[in-house]
Amino acid sequence: GVLGDLSGSLSRAIKNMNNATIVDEKVLNDCLNEICRALLKADVNFDLIKNMKINIKKIVNLDNLAAGHNKRKIIQQAVFDELCKMLDTGKPSFTPKRGKTSVVMFVGLQGSGKTTTCTKYAYHHQKKGWKPALVCADTFRAGAFDQLKQNATKARIPFCGSYMESDPVKVAVQGVERFKKENCDLIIVDTSGRHQQEAALFEEMRQLAEATKPDLVIFVMDSSIGQAAFSQAQAFNRSVSVGAVIVTKTEGQAKGGGALSAVAATKSPVIFLGTGEHMDEFEVFDVKPFVSRLLGMGDLSGFMDKIHQIVPTDQQPELLQRLSEGSFTLRIMYEQFQNLLNMGSFNQVFSMLPGFSTDLMANGRDKEGERKIKRYMTMMDSMTNEELDTTDPKKLINESRILRIARGSGCQVKDVMNMFEEYRRLAKMWSKMKGLKIPRKGGDISA
Ligand code: GDP
Repeated sequence: GVLGDLSGSLSRAIKNMNNATIVDEKVLNDCLNEICRALLKADVNFDLIKNMKINIKKIVNLDNLAAGHNKRKIIQQAVFDELCKMLDTGKPSFTPKRGKTSVVMFVGLQGSGKTTTCTKYAYHHQKKGWKPALVCADTFRAGAFDQLKQNATKARIPFCGSYMESDPVKVAVQGVERFKKENCDLIIVDTSGRHQQEAALFEEMRQLAEATKPDLVIFVMDSSIGQAAFSQAQAFNRSVSVGAVIVTKTEGQAKGGGALSAVAATKSPVIFLGTGEHMDEFEVFDVKPFVSRLLGMGDLSGFMDKIHQIVPTDQQPELLQRLSEGSFTLRIMYEQFQNLLNMGSFNQVFSMLPGFSTDLMANGRDKEGERKIKRYMTMMDSMTNEELDTTDPKKLINESRILRIARGSGCQVKDVMNMFEEYRRLAKMWSKMKGLKIPRKGGDISA
């Protein structure tokens, strides 16, 4: 899923460090270098990475750590904290207030997904009981208004714009005035992303902001723009004061480090991620669960939410019960695969599991993961009830059984071994949940 490659490399770096017999200066350096390389490859700004490394080395002073200290934990925590710091500016983003009209202006280059994101943002709030409205202030590009109109109509959101008027400021002001009169509480202004000259675009943004006095300016960026993110975000931030960032097209992206750079350039938080072309392919962005996933540490609370969403209600109590007992069998794995296939969204779920193989997620290539899971299920179809229900298949299933299962399901022994590897990983994760207080729907998770 999101930032697949980066996540894989970061998890590997942490894992290698965890696997080292003793954690000395060399192991720490190797780990940090690997992390820096991964971030650099993902287009995170070089200075940010350099600072991060310096900070971690300051925190993790191996010489001063007493022998009893868990160095691995301290290093992992320092990496986690530093990545969070990169994404968390400490400045909370403006959120629209109930009972008050807020104006939100969207800026970003053409093609970044601005118009789509405006509608997603409106739709997201509409579902929560807001009365949003969309204003098209892009008079530069022919067809911009039609596109917004089409999106808005689909989502049943009031909109306005003009085919005739060429002054975007006039159109924006009129639109904002009108929707204020109509008691809309969230007025969203979509702007142009292109001009004959770049300078003219930024001047237009400045004028629009001056005239409509937005409570929040959101910078929209395509996750694939790479190193350009920093300067692009900075340029917009110079003409209008950017208060939040939305990163689009994050669903199959290997490179997404630009998001971290945009945060640094604008000192503003990422608030949503676009994860597809559809209206509801839009996720609230949370720093800590995101970084957990990035480091392969899993996101247990997100995982529990997904369980509530995915597992049929009548199966939930039983599953949660088993979860709290920490007993994990191949049959449970089979049933969960089945649920996931029915939902068609296992990619999202598995990315939340600590240690779950990232290549099963295949960097957002859902179809590949799906085929793999179906193959695993075929293998399990060739197993006996006893094998499916034991909590220790290793004891029960020897080499000749593995050979038989492979033959019975038309797979190779290697594939069966992979399946068991996945099982072991999941079982390990499962055992971590043992004794967890099972949260109610939407509740917090606590140990
Ligand atoms: P604008 O020029 O910045 O207004 O960009 P548009 O809203 O017209 O989007 C450009 C293209 O990107 C369109 O084809 C959108 O459907 C697509 N798009 C926008 N957001 C996402 C996203 O999160 N994921 C994917 N896959 N496509 C997106």
